[in-house]
Amino acid sequence: MGMCYRRYLAGERIYGCSGCKTHLATIHSMISRAFTGQHGRAYLFENVVNVVEGEPDDRTMTTGAHTVSDIYCVKCNTTLGWKYIHAYEQSQKYKEGKFILERNLLVDVQ
Ligand SMILES: [Zn+2]
Repeated sequence: MGMCYRRYLAGERIYGCSGCKTHLATIHSMISRAFTGQHGRAYLFENVVNVVEGEPDDRTMTTGAHTVSDIYCVKCNTTLGWKYIHAYEQSQKYKEGKFILERNLLVDVQ
């Protein structure tokens, strides 16, 4: 994949990877705290940086069937959550293109 350079975010509150503190998202792009990930509570974000997307995969969740791609930290390769590629239920369409980050895998970097 070649060399990845990391982007740095600016703002009041920045969430980073708990493994290596790479910047991932700001509080301004957070949509909801009321999500559940693989390891407990998770947050939904409009935008996340410095992640690599895996292969799309169909998964059935409590809110119905979705196509998602796992997302990995560009630096330490930790699986941080996933991106919603497609939602089959009309009521879940708002999640398409948005990102889930697991709360336990985030640290405040600022
Ligand atoms: Zn990391």
